[in-house]
Amino acid sequence: MSSSSNSSATPVSTPANAANSDSVTVRLAQVRHAVSGACAEAGRAAGSVTLVAVSKTHPAEAVEEALAAGQRVFGENRVQEAKAKFPDLRGRFPDLELHLIGPLQTNKVKDAVALFDVIQTLDRPKLAEALAEEMAKAGRRPRLLIEVNTGEEPQKAGIRPADLDGFVAACRETWKLPVAGLMCIPPQDEEPAMHFALLAEMARRNGLAEVSMGMSGDFETAIRFGATHVRVGTAIFGARPYPAAG
Ligand SMILES: *Cc1c(COP(=O)(O)O)cnc(C)c1O
Repeated sequence: MSSSSNSSATPVSTPANAANSDSVTVRLAQVRHAVSGACAEAGRAAGSVTLVAVSKTHPAEAVEEALAAGQRVFGENRVQEAKAKFPDLRGRFPDLELHLIGPLQTNKVKDAVALFDVIQTLDRPKLAEALAEEMAKAGRRPRLLIEVNTGEEPQKAGIRPADLDGFVAACRETWKLPVAGLMCIPPQDEEPAMHFALLAEMARRNGLAEVSMGMSGDFETAIRFGATHVRVGTAIFGARPYPAAG
Protein backbone atom coordinates (compact mmCIF):
# COMPACT_ATOMS: atom_id res chain seq x y z
CA MET A 1 0.00 0.00 0.00
CA SER A 2 1.98 2.97 -1.19
CA SER A 3 0.79 6.53 -0.86
CA SER A 4 0.63 6.83 -4.65
CA SER A 5 -1.90 4.01 -5.04
CA ASN A 6 -3.72 5.66 -2.19
CA SER A 7 -4.10 9.03 -3.83
CA SER A 8 -5.24 7.58 -7.15
CA ALA A 9 -7.90 5.48 -5.41
CA THR A 10 -9.33 8.47 -3.55
CA PRO A 11 -10.89 11.09 -5.80
CA VAL A 12 -11.73 13.58 -3.07
CA SER A 13 -9.15 14.05 -0.34
CA THR A 14 -10.60 15.01 3.02
CA PRO A 15 -8.82 14.95 6.38
CA ALA A 16 -10.63 11.69 7.18
CA ASN A 17 -9.39 9.80 4.15
CA ALA A 18 -6.18 11.65 3.37
CA ALA A 19 -4.35 8.92 5.25
CA ASN A 20 -5.52 5.39 4.61
CA SER A 21 -6.70 4.25 8.03
CA ASP A 22 -6.23 0.63 6.95
CA SER A 23 -2.56 1.15 6.29
CA VAL A 24 0.24 -0.38 8.31
CA THR A 25 1.70 3.11 8.74
CA VAL A 26 -1.42 4.46 10.41
CA ARG A 27 -2.02 1.42 12.61
CA LEU A 28 1.63 1.35 13.65
CA ALA A 29 1.36 4.99 14.73
CA GLN A 30 -1.76 4.15 16.74
CA VAL A 31 -0.07 1.22 18.48
CA ARG A 32 3.01 3.32 19.25
CA HIS A 33 0.76 5.98 20.71
CA ALA A 34 -0.98 3.37 22.88
CA VAL A 35 2.38 1.97 24.02
CA SER A 36 3.68 5.36 25.11
CA GLY A 37 0.34 6.14 26.76
CA ALA A 38 0.51 2.91 28.76
CA CYS A 39 4.13 3.69 29.73
CA ALA A 40 3.15 7.15 30.95
CA GLU A 41 0.20 5.78 32.90
CA ALA A 42 2.43 3.19 34.56
CA GLY A 43 5.02 5.84 35.40
CA ARG A 44 7.53 4.14 33.14
CA ALA A 45 9.99 5.84 30.82
CA ALA A 46 8.91 6.15 27.21
CA GLY A 47 11.20 3.78 25.38
CA SER A 48 11.32 1.25 28.21
CA VAL A 49 9.09 -1.00 26.11
CA THR A 50 10.19 -2.48 22.78
CA LEU A 51 7.43 -3.01 20.26
CA VAL A 52 7.93 -6.31 18.45
CA ALA A 53 5.87 -6.13 15.24
CA VAL A 54 4.62 -9.66 14.57
CA SER A 55 4.60 -10.05 10.80
CA LYS A 56 3.87 -13.80 10.54
CA THR A 57 1.73 -14.68 7.49
CA HIS A 58 2.01 -11.13 6.13
CA PRO A 59 4.05 -10.49 2.97
CA ALA A 60 7.41 -8.73 2.83
CA GLU A 61 5.63 -5.64 1.43
CA ALA A 62 3.81 -5.18 4.73
CA VAL A 63 7.12 -5.45 6.58
CA GLU A 64 8.62 -2.89 4.20
CA GLU A 65 5.82 -0.46 4.98
CA ALA A 66 6.56 -0.83 8.69
CA LEU A 67 10.28 -0.38 8.01
CA ALA A 68 9.54 2.80 6.09
CA ALA A 69 7.67 4.04 9.16
CA GLY A 70 10.74 3.44 11.30
CA GLN A 71 9.85 0.06 12.84
CA ARG A 72 12.95 -2.12 13.23
CA VAL A 73 12.00 -5.01 15.53
CA PHE A 74 9.96 -7.85 14.06
CA GLY A 75 8.66 -11.21 15.26
CA GLU A 76 8.05 -14.34 13.21
CA ASN A 77 6.80 -17.68 14.45
CA ARG A 78 8.22 -20.00 11.80
CA VAL A 79 11.85 -20.40 10.81
CA GLN A 80 11.11 -21.22 7.17
CA GLU A 81 8.82 -18.24 6.68
CA ALA A 82 11.33 -15.86 8.25
CA LYS A 83 14.07 -17.31 6.09
CA ALA A 84 12.08 -16.57 2.96
CA LYS A 85 11.10 -13.06 4.00
CA PHE A 86 13.91 -11.41 5.94
CA PRO A 87 17.47 -11.92 4.63
CA ASP A 88 16.73 -9.55 1.75
CA LEU A 89 15.24 -6.85 4.01
CA ARG A 90 18.09 -7.23 6.45
CA GLY A 91 20.55 -6.43 3.67
CA ARG A 92 18.82 -3.08 3.21
CA PHE A 93 18.11 -2.41 6.90
CA PRO A 94 21.17 -3.63 8.85
CA ASP A 95 19.69 -2.45 12.16
CA LEU A 96 16.64 -4.69 11.77
CA GLU A 97 16.17 -7.01 14.78
CA LEU A 98 14.39 -10.32 14.23
CA HIS A 99 12.73 -12.33 17.03
CA LEU A 100 11.56 -15.94 16.86
CA ILE A 101 8.31 -16.18 18.82
CA GLY A 102 7.09 -19.62 17.72
CA PRO A 103 8.11 -23.13 18.74
CA LEU A 104 11.59 -24.24 17.65
CA GLN A 105 12.31 -27.82 16.65
CA THR A 106 15.84 -29.03 17.22
CA ASN A 107 16.31 -29.79 13.51
CA LYS A 108 15.76 -26.06 12.77
CA VAL A 109 18.23 -24.80 15.38
CA LYS A 110 20.99 -24.19 12.85
CA ASP A 111 18.80 -21.95 10.69
CA ALA A 112 17.34 -20.22 13.73
CA VAL A 113 20.74 -19.33 15.19
CA ALA A 114 21.86 -18.02 11.80
CA LEU A 115 18.74 -15.95 11.22
CA PHE A 116 17.37 -14.57 14.48
CA ASP A 117 18.75 -11.98 16.88
CA VAL A 118 16.48 -13.11 19.69
CA ILE A 119 14.89 -16.52 20.26
CA GLN A 120 11.97 -16.05 22.64
CA THR A 121 10.90 -19.67 22.83
CA LEU A 122 13.51 -21.64 24.72
CA ASP A 123 11.13 -24.13 26.31
CA ARG A 124 12.97 -27.38 27.14
CA PRO A 125 16.35 -28.80 28.18
CA LYS A 126 16.90 -30.60 24.88
CA LEU A 127 16.56 -27.32 23.00
CA ALA A 128 18.93 -25.58 25.44
CA GLU A 129 21.52 -28.24 24.72
CA ALA A 130 21.04 -27.99 20.95
CA LEU A 131 21.27 -24.18 21.05
CA ALA A 132 24.45 -24.27 23.10
CA GLU A 133 26.03 -26.67 20.66
CA GLU A 134 25.01 -24.68 17.58
CA MET A 135 26.02 -21.32 19.07
CA ALA A 136 29.49 -22.68 19.77
CA LYS A 137 29.73 -24.02 16.24
CA ALA A 138 28.34 -20.93 14.49
CA GLY A 139 30.03 -18.33 16.68
CA ARG A 140 26.74 -16.45 16.79
CA ARG A 141 24.82 -15.94 20.03
CA PRO A 142 21.22 -14.74 19.68
CA ARG A 143 19.73 -13.52 22.95
CA LEU A 144 17.39 -16.06 24.51
CA LEU A 145 14.15 -15.74 26.38
CA ILE A 146 12.71 -18.70 28.24
CA GLU A 147 9.06 -19.42 27.50
CA VAL A 148 7.12 -20.06 30.69
CA ASN A 149 3.84 -21.98 30.67
CA THR A 150 2.31 -19.72 33.32
CA GLY A 151 -1.12 -21.34 32.95
CA GLU A 152 0.36 -24.86 33.26
CA GLU A 153 -1.65 -25.86 30.20
CA PRO A 154 -0.85 -29.44 29.20
CA GLN A 155 -0.99 -28.73 25.43
CA LYS A 156 1.16 -25.61 25.63
CA ALA A 157 4.93 -25.34 25.34
CA GLY A 158 7.01 -23.74 28.05
CA ILE A 159 8.74 -24.39 31.33
CA ARG A 160 6.38 -24.83 34.28
CA PRO A 161 6.66 -22.09 36.90
CA ALA A 162 7.85 -24.56 39.55
CA ASP A 163 10.73 -25.69 37.31
CA LEU A 164 11.76 -22.24 36.13
CA ASP A 165 14.46 -21.26 38.64
CA GLY A 166 16.23 -24.59 38.18
CA PHE A 167 16.04 -24.31 34.41
CA VAL A 168 17.44 -20.76 34.44
CA ALA A 169 20.33 -21.95 36.59
CA ALA A 170 21.02 -24.89 34.26
CA CYS A 171 20.95 -22.61 31.20
CA ARG A 172 23.50 -20.36 32.86
CA GLU A 173 25.77 -22.89 34.50
CA THR A 174 25.53 -26.04 32.40
CA TRP A 175 24.94 -24.62 28.93
CA LYS A 176 26.39 -21.09 29.38
CA LEU A 177 23.52 -19.67 27.35
CA PRO A 178 22.85 -15.94 26.90
CA VAL A 179 19.49 -15.95 28.71
CA ALA A 180 18.13 -12.40 28.78
CA GLY A 181 14.58 -12.85 29.96
CA LEU A 182 11.25 -14.63 30.00
CA MET A 183 8.18 -14.76 27.77
CA CYS A 184 4.66 -16.10 28.19
CA ILE A 185 1.44 -16.62 26.29
CA PRO A 186 -1.36 -16.66 28.89
CA PRO A 187 -4.33 -19.03 28.52
CA GLN A 188 -6.89 -17.59 26.11
CA ASP A 189 -9.83 -17.84 28.47
CA GLU A 190 -8.24 -16.23 31.52
CA GLU A 191 -7.51 -12.70 32.67
CA PRO A 192 -3.92 -12.17 31.54
CA ALA A 193 -3.01 -9.83 34.42
CA MET A 194 -2.13 -12.54 36.97
CA HIS A 195 0.02 -14.32 34.37
CA PHE A 196 1.83 -11.09 33.57
CA ALA A 197 2.41 -10.40 37.26
CA LEU A 198 3.75 -13.93 37.77
CA LEU A 199 6.12 -13.70 34.80
CA ALA A 200 7.49 -10.32 35.89
CA GLU A 201 8.10 -11.66 39.41
CA MET A 202 9.89 -14.76 38.09
CA ALA A 203 12.11 -12.55 35.91
CA ARG A 204 12.88 -10.25 38.85
CA ARG A 205 13.88 -13.02 41.23
CA ASN A 206 16.13 -14.60 38.58
CA GLY A 207 17.82 -11.30 37.73
CA LEU A 208 16.48 -11.32 34.16
CA ALA A 209 15.93 -7.91 32.57
CA GLU A 210 13.67 -8.76 29.63
CA VAL A 211 10.00 -9.66 29.98
CA SER A 212 8.08 -10.42 26.77
CA MET A 213 4.33 -10.43 27.28
CA GLY A 214 1.22 -8.83 25.82
CA MET A 215 -0.26 -9.09 22.32
CA SER A 216 -2.76 -6.97 20.34
CA GLY A 217 -5.56 -7.43 22.85
CA ASP A 218 -3.67 -6.93 26.09
CA PHE A 219 -0.34 -5.16 25.54
CA GLU A 220 -1.37 -2.16 27.63
CA THR A 221 -2.10 -4.44 30.59
CA ALA A 222 1.24 -6.17 30.05
CA ILE A 223 3.03 -2.81 30.13
CA ARG A 224 1.32 -2.00 33.43
CA PHE A 225 2.76 -5.26 34.81
CA GLY A 226 6.29 -4.63 33.60
CA ALA A 227 6.60 -5.92 30.03
CA THR A 228 9.81 -4.79 28.33
CA HIS A 229 8.71 -6.36 25.02
CA VAL A 230 5.18 -6.52 23.64
CA ARG A 231 4.44 -8.73 20.62
CA VAL A 232 1.80 -7.08 18.46
CA GLY A 233 0.59 -8.49 15.15
CA THR A 234 -3.06 -7.89 14.25
CA ALA A 235 -3.22 -4.34 15.59
CA ILE A 236 -0.37 -3.36 13.24
CA PHE A 237 -0.76 -5.57 10.17
CA GLY A 238 -4.49 -6.30 10.28
CA ALA A 239 -6.13 -9.72 10.32
CA ARG A 240 -3.88 -12.52 9.17
CA PRO A 241 -4.57 -13.77 5.61
CA TYR A 242 -4.36 -17.37 6.86
CA PRO A 243 -4.00 -18.95 10.31
CA ALA A 244 -0.45 -19.01 11.60
CA ALA A 245 0.89 -22.43 12.47
CA GLY A 246 2.34 -23.07 15.90
C1 LIG B 1 0.86 -14.33 16.67
C2 LIG B 1 1.54 -14.08 17.95
C3 LIG B 1 1.49 -12.81 18.56
C4 LIG B 1 0.71 -11.64 17.98
O1 LIG B 1 -0.66 -11.83 18.17
P1 LIG B 1 -1.71 -10.67 17.80
O2 LIG B 1 -2.91 -11.03 18.62
O3 LIG B 1 -1.94 -10.77 16.34
O4 LIG B 1 -1.12 -9.39 18.21
C5 LIG B 1 2.18 -12.63 19.74
N1 LIG B 1 2.87 -13.63 20.31
C6 LIG B 1 2.95 -14.86 19.76
C7 LIG B 1 3.74 -15.91 20.44
C8 LIG B 1 2.27 -15.12 18.57
O5 LIG B 1 2.35 -16.35 18.04
